[in-house]
Amino acid sequence: MNLVKKFIINKIILSLIFLSGCTFFNKTNKNKEVIKNMSEHKKTIFTFLSAPGGGKGTLAQKAIDKLNFIVLSTGDLFRQYIANSTNIGLELKKYMDKGELVPDELVISMVKEWLLSIKDSDKPIILDGFPRTSVQAKKLIELLQKNLPEFGFRVIKLETPQEEITERLINRRVCPNKECQAVYNTSMPEITEGKCLKCDTQLIQRADDKPEIIKERFDVYYKNEKELINAYESEGIDIETINVSKKTPNTILQNFTDIL
Ligand code: AMP
Repeated sequence: MNLVKKFIINKIILSLIFLSGCTFFNKTNKNKEVIKNMSEHKKTIFTFLSAPGGGKGTLAQKAIDKLNFIVLSTGDLFRQYIANSTNIGLELKKYMDKGELVPDELVISMVKEWLLSIKDSDKPIILDGFPRTSVQAKKLIELLQKNLPEFGFRVIKLETPQEEITERLINRRVCPNKECQAVYNTSMPEITEGKCLKCDTQLIQRADDKPEIIKERFDVYYKNEKELINAYESEGIDIETINVSKKTPNTILQNFTDIL
């Protein structure tokens, strides 16, 4: 009797293992299929995986100027809300000034609205600064599958040593003019006057480019980067890499163009 019981229990356990294996296999295959289909589409959404100051904004700007991309920079969008002193802007400022991430639901709803508004455009798209968490990545993939099946999705990791970007962030100066938002570095000899070369506005240092806030932003970034990479891997999405260390924006653009 005991043996029969053991046999039945073993059978049940084996069936459960088999069933969960099938579910895993189906899920992995289903995701691969979706991603494969996504990559066959003409329209593509790119996202950059890069620490703050890692060059994603500069590359995105080059891609607008030279390759006719459309870019949504979540950071720029949020700074516009802040500059316009809207209620959302005040809410966003609370997080951004401390170097913390804005809550996922708020970011996701703003990005979703933007993506749906430009979905009929034929231009390739860069999401600069989104997704930044695994929750955002999963929501984006869900949105692409349900509402934007005509878009493929590619993740490009921009690699630079942390010391190099820390220095770049500390020396970064930006034009506060909403229409301009040009970015400079104090090491550029042509900005000795501290004025924007495009619109002559006095340049400023971003509140979150102060050393203590930069450290917080790095901590937040590296914690989330691991989770983001896991999320992409579990969805069967490849992460492509461009080494951007010590390269000029034009060389980085060339490296990006080479993999398009
Ligand atoms: P950035 O200009 O990309 O460095 O972003 C500046 C700040 O905006 C970040 O430090 C966050 O506070 C906020 N932010 C931008 N994008 C996101 C996002 N996808 N999720 C949460 N917070 C974000």
